[in-house]
Amino acid sequence: MNPRLLFWIPAGLRLSIILAGAGGLWYMFGPAAGIAAAIVGLLALLVIQLHYLYQLSNWLEDPNSAKLPDGWGAWTDIFSRLYRMQRGHEKNQAELTEWLTRFRQAMSLLPDGVVIMDDVLFLEWCNPAAEKHLGLQLERDKGMRVTNLVRSPEFMDYIILGRYDQPLTLSFRDNKLVVQIIPFENRRQILVTHDITESERIDMMRRDFIANASHELRTPLTVINGFLEIATSQPNLDPQVRMSHLKLMTEQGHRMQNLVEDMLTLTRLESVDYPLRPEKVNMRMLLEQIEQEAVALSAGRHIISLQVDGPDLKGGTEELRSAFGNLVSNAIRYTPAEGSIDIRWEDGEAGPQFVVRDTGIGIRPEHISRLTERFYRVDKSRSRETQGTGLGLAIVKHVLLRHDATLAIESEPEKGSTFTVRFSKSRVADH
Ligand code: ADP
Repeated sequence: MNPRLLFWIPAGLRLSIILAGAGGLWYMFGPAAGIAAAIVGLLALLVIQLHYLYQLSNWLEDPNSAKLPDGWGAWTDIFSRLYRMQRGHEKNQAELTEWLTRFRQAMSLLPDGVVIMDDVLFLEWCNPAAEKHLGLQLERDKGMRVTNLVRSPEFMDYIILGRYDQPLTLSFRDNKLVVQIIPFENRRQILVTHDITESERIDMMRRDFIANASHELRTPLTVINGFLEIATSQPNLDPQVRMSHLKLMTEQGHRMQNLVEDMLTLTRLESVDYPLRPEKVNMRMLLEQIEQEAVALSAGRHIISLQVDGPDLKGGTEELRSAFGNLVSNAIRYTPAEGSIDIRWEDGEAGPQFVVRDTGIGIRPEHISRLTERFYRVDKSRSRETQGTGLGLAIVKHVLLRHDATLAIESEPEKGSTFTVRFSKSRVADH
């Protein structure tokens, strides 16, 4: 029914009843009784209205805690409409709160930073990624000007120029960020930040690797080309000289081959397409083969000993052969004749360990932390003399990473070095 009718019909009825009652009394007992009855009736109606007005005012004061009364007459309709309005409002609010919570959750999971600012760059809100990228703390910095918080001349210039259609690459607190301001609504702006530190580092490593690899390949190629030129320009070269040239060319060819093989091994170890497929590795057999290769490489110049006391492993046999083989061949290559090489496979405190100890040239402490970097060598010419590629320990590092193992290096210049590979107990193969 029309709400106006719902209001007027009961109100009119009540007034009519009072007036009719008063009229009846007037008729029966005279005008004084009629007027008194009308006054009493109207006063009673007024008291009732005041009572409900008071209840309404109480409820409006604190709609959540006070309960709406059921009402009487037109009040019933007013209260029930207010009640429906309040329920609708509560539902909207609950939906809004839920939506806001979900939005905040999504924003906090975002790897990119989002900062909401007003038109004059005062911080209104930001997500955790933005706090991390820009060193902000929402609680502390809310209401402050973002240019006072992100103190960077590049960022300041970006704001002054106002060319927000372009992103800005910013070096900020040891990080490299790409930031961009996007105006939205009339008086708000969003600052988006994207951290590119890691991808820049990988790019840099890739560039360094290509530069180093090209440099390493260029030297043997130059040597080979030089001898080939001599061979073509001097066809009647002394056969003995020619033979020595051929020997040198073969050496350089081997060097290039070793380099390319090591680079391929490294690429494969890093590739996600080659996950480790663990198998049972017969450690005694593997280490005896490595010892035989070591004896051949040493050609009788060193005393080599092998002791196998540890258990078999779960891992990649060929990868472990390559890692252990590299450590043993390094020990031989960096130990002068008459020195000794000790190879041990044993049970350590936290799990099995592979130890190679030599009495070689040793390594100065400042080099130790960098040895597993690609192409890092303490002495370039010595490494080349001994057919080193500078990639051996980088390969070792990657193989060990894939086997959850660690490498510890102890060394004393002129005295010798000890390389220890520690595996966790979970790598021990079941019998
Ligand atoms: P390389 O092919 O040059 O031997 P590696 O990555 O195997 O490359 O080793 C990196 C560098 O670490 C070597 O150039 C060498 O200077 C040093 N090095 C490695 N093993 C030993 C060792 N047992 N004794 C002394 N120096 C070593």
